[in-house]
Parts: sequence; structure tokens; C-alpha cells
Amino acid sequence: MLVVMNANATPEQIQAVAEKIHALGYMPHVIAGPTRTAIGITGNRGPEGREALLLMPGVEDVVRVTVGYKLVSRETHPDSSTFPVASTRVGGGFTLIAGPCSVENEKTTIESAQFLTRLGVKLMRAGAYKPRTSPYAFQGLGEEGLRILAKVRAETGIGVVTEVLDVENAGRIEEVADILQVGTRNMQNYPLLRRLASASKPILLKRGMAATVEEWLLAAEYLMSGGNRRVILCERGVRTFADHTRNTLDLSIIPVVKHLSHLPVIIDPSHGTGRAEYVPAMSRAALAAGADGLIVEVHPDPRNALSDGQQSLDFPAFEKMYASLKPLAQVLETEIL
Ligand code: PEP
Ligand code: MN
Repeated sequence: MLVVMNANATPEQIQAVAEKIHALGYMPHVIAGPTRTAIGITGNRGPEGREALLLMPGVEDVVRVTVGYKLVSRETHPDSSTFPVASTRVGGGFTLIAGPCSVENEKTTIESAQFLTRLGVKLMRAGAYKPRTSPYAFQGLGEEGLRILAKVRAETGIGVVTEVLDVENAGRIEEVADILQVGTRNMQNYPLLRRLASASKPILLKRGMAATVEEWLLAAEYLMSGGNRRVILCERGVRTFADHTRNTLDLSIIPVVKHLSHLPVIIDPSHGTGRAEYVPAMSRAALAAGADGLIVEVHPDPRNALSDGQQSLDFPAFEKMYASLKPLAQVLETEIL
């Protein structure tokens, strides 16, 4: 259920409704909107308590939310979500996140950060802990990678996006990163989602490689229902019969997610295609289709990258792509953040 307060409800009336929801044995989630406040209710199985809530001062209506992903849904929160991250924001613009697949060493990480900040990109991706298909492949630098990320962040001011593979390392990564990435393989790792629900940083939740939109939004609901309101959805391609690209980048999910949810959705054209030469076209398509941003792999020397070199843009290619997004953003009346 969702309690819709009337436009001039007082903070005391909102507080009283939240307390009443608690007393009914449910969880209140206060959602402040530009004109009115709503209070989402979770933990209830049906409309019990609706009548009592309807009679409370300041309450305009109590409506049923028809979908399972209650806090994620646009029914509960009609305005698109936007929140500040590092020196930029996500939502209400086109946010660029770029950088190497992995933290390989201090040199390539700092070079990437300096290149990106020069262009005006405010967020850098780079994995310290890597989920690799083969146990023999480079697994990431771990702790040492986090140390490098912290140093690069302090020296350049760039915001850091990095992956959390397991509950064990979550706390340490939370101290260093500006956004915590949950990879495709972990989208349904519920203990991890529960842990990150109480993280102090926003979560970038990648779509599972075989997840339906409902499964994806329910995974986001784990984060939101546990108290983390700052969730970014990321489409990175799904498994299909097609083998002309690494994954099948499902750009059609952008308008679907925008319709069903208020959360920002960004696109990963690097894992989505697996080939650097296809990344610019898919990036422009993502912008045109209404995505809220991109996460792109960029490397100073892709041929010698320790992971995902084939799909990483080199600096000149990224710069060229970035330049091509600008006029498109202008036509679409959005801004590149
Ligand atoms: C990555 O971003 O480098 C990564 C491993 O992504 P995904 O989880 O989408 O495969
Ligand atoms: Mn990668």
C-alpha cells in the first residue's frame, strides 16, 4: 500500500502516519516528492489497516501498489529519481562512467583518471576484485587495487565505481568507492544485496545475464527495502542464441524500465557488445533511447589490458565518441554529466 499525504500535510502528521504503520507491524518508507509526500508500506500482506490510515489527519488516499517491487515502482514514486554522486549526479541527465575493466597497476589507473578528468568525466570505473570465468585468469589486485583507487581518487578528485564481489569485502570497498557495483553474476546474490542495502554508498546493479525485468527490479527492491534508496540499474547485455556480439545488448529495456520504475538506468555497451568498434554506435543509441548514462571500458593500451581489452576503447576512440554524444544530447535536450 501507499499512503498519499495531501499537499499541505504537516511534518507531525507525516510522522504520526509513519508511527501508525509501525504500530500495525509494517515498515513505513517516507518518500518526499516536489509537491507532496507519500509513505510506502512494506511488510503487509493485504489492505489490513487501510481504513484506519484513511481516517488520519493529512491523509489524502491509501492506494494499493499492484507490483511486487513496491519501492522501485513508478506507482509509488512518480518522479524519476536523481541523486548526487561524488562531484556529479545520476538521473536527470546523461552520466558518463568510464575507465579500465580492472585496476591493473597505479600507472594505468592514474593515466586513465587524468585523461577522463581532462575531458570532464566525473566518474571512473575499475575493478579491484574481478569475477572471472576462468580461475586462471587475472583475478584483480584486491586490497592493493583498493589502495590504488583511494590514491587516484584523492589525487584527481574523480569519483570511483568498483565492484563488490562478496559480503566479506563490502565494508572495505565502501570506504573507498563512490558507487558500489554489483555484477551480472551477483544480481541474485541475496545475502550480498541485503548487506548492500545498508551501505552508505549508491549501488550500480547490473542486470543478470538471464534475468527478466521483474527479477531485476525485485533485486533492486532488496536494496531499497533494506534502506538504500540510491540504486542505479545497468543493462549490460543478456545471453541469447546470437553470437555476433559477446552479449545481446537489450536497449529495448530502457523504455520498459522507465515506464515501470523511477530508478535511473544506464547502459554498458562494452560488455553488451564485447567489441570496442561497436561501442560508439550503441552508446549513441542508448542516449537516444532515453538512458540516464553509460558505463564504458576505456584503457590506455587495450591490446595489453589484463582483462576485456577487446571491448575497451583507447583514449582517442573514447574522445571521439564523447565528442559525438554532445550534439546528440543537445538535440535531445539533455546534458552530459
Ligand atoms: C565489469 O564491469 O567489468 C564486469 C565484470 O561486468 P559484468 O558483471 O556486467 O560482466
Ligand atoms: Mn570488464
